[in-house]
Amino acid sequence: MTLNPRTMNSRSSASLLFALLFLVSSATAQIRGARGTPPRTQSLTSVRQQQIARIVQEIDARNIERTIRKLVSFGTRNTLSTQSDPNRGIGAARDWLFSEFSKAAERSGGRMTVEKQTFEQPKAARVPQPTMVTNVVATLKGTQPESSGRTYIVSGHYDSMCTSPTDATCDAPGANDDASGTAAVLEMARVMAKYKFDATIVFMAVAGEEQGLLGSTYAAEQAKQKGMDVEAMFTNDIIGSSLGGNGVRDAHTIRVFSEGVPSSEKPEEATVRRGVGGENDSAPRQLARFIKETGERYVPAMRVMMVYRRDRYLRGGDHIPFLERGFAAVRFTEPNEDYRHQHQNVRIENEVQYGDLPQFDDFNYIANVARVNAASLAALALAPARPKNVGLLTTRLTNDTDLKWDPNKEPDLAGYEIVWRDTTSPVWTNARAVGNVTSFTVKGMSKDNYFFAVRALDKQGNKSPASFPHPVR
Ligand SMILES: [Zn+2]
Repeated sequence: MTLNPRTMNSRSSASLLFALLFLVSSATAQIRGARGTPPRTQSLTSVRQQQIARIVQEIDARNIERTIRKLVSFGTRNTLSTQSDPNRGIGAARDWLFSEFSKAAERSGGRMTVEKQTFEQPKAARVPQPTMVTNVVATLKGTQPESSGRTYIVSGHYDSMCTSPTDATCDAPGANDDASGTAAVLEMARVMAKYKFDATIVFMAVAGEEQGLLGSTYAAEQAKQKGMDVEAMFTNDIIGSSLGGNGVRDAHTIRVFSEGVPSSEKPEEATVRRGVGGENDSAPRQLARFIKETGERYVPAMRVMMVYRRDRYLRGGDHIPFLERGFAAVRFTEPNEDYRHQHQNVRIENEVQYGDLPQFDDFNYIANVARVNAASLAALALAPARPKNVGLLTTRLTNDTDLKWDPNKEPDLAGYEIVWRDTTSPVWTNARAVGNVTSFTVKGMSKDNYFFAVRALDKQGNKSPASFPHPVR
């Protein structure tokens, strides 16, 4: 009944490679067509897939390198550093990023707007006096009225620190932590601004991460207070190096951290989770599975290593304030970190170079991580919303599985798929299209023995992440 995931993976990567080759050749055909002969008729499916393939292709490691070197040139980007010097400190970095995102917006035909989201942070553990903190936020508005409220956020933090988080004057190049994530987000904004998506994508460079996730906390709280429909949030933090402190070189793996038990879980929700065995099926985990499936399809050079944890062991990042407010969020980080190059004063000690310097970044690797992000964001923002109010009916005692859900509202909706897996499988292994219906009975398969979920499909074949059902009595 279940496919072996190993076999499935190799089979699907072969067919995906084939699909990509086809896309490249049909794109060529279209260009030739524009020069003379009538353009070849494209199915919408291939047009949409071509858009994602083009975005992946247009992400350029040279732009990422330029951004990182520019950010490093500000000397320090500590949140407590000067905000008025045009050449040094976080204020200079903020203004430069604002102007770069604004340049990206010029390519969007008015669909992308850029703002500085500024607030005064009161005194806190790592903030000795009240400090203005600014996030630079570029919003690319979705073009489908039914979907433009649906929002996907991608972020990196542009602040940095040396050994002491409150030292505002020491050199803190932060080339990896987190100029790498910031540069990836800026490059995605530049490339994606000229493309249209059904849903809205927000590209964000936040500050105050090293001071206690201040910028992201403010952004998450604003999103919650405004009632924004944030369907996913990605933070990219320390995505800069393919060489770990353990000597392992791995330029083909990106870790995606997703929590299982929700940070925002209420006691009654915990009772339900225990009752249905839902600890591996939170919305962030469905998002991680979606990123693995999509990222590896469009960027075959990369392996998405899902880590079933909120973050690294006892550590944190900008996705956590979003998780705490009930939004699905994940963290991207390189596979092997090198702690000599994180939160360290730049110095040589016993012939070892310490400090977060650009010479330890791998710009091609960062570009590939940006491609995995961009393909996943594009696929999310082109696809229908994940089905809402998915219920598993417990009204009759049966070996069948009865599912129901609310209808999606997108005009290009094609229908739904039921996905399932063995309870011990980390990923969905099976899918069955069931048409444009809002309930379905999986005959002869017991909800006791498999996990089930539902995803939505549009007429171009774009698929939403899966929605895990709640029990309905
Ligand atoms: Zn960081």
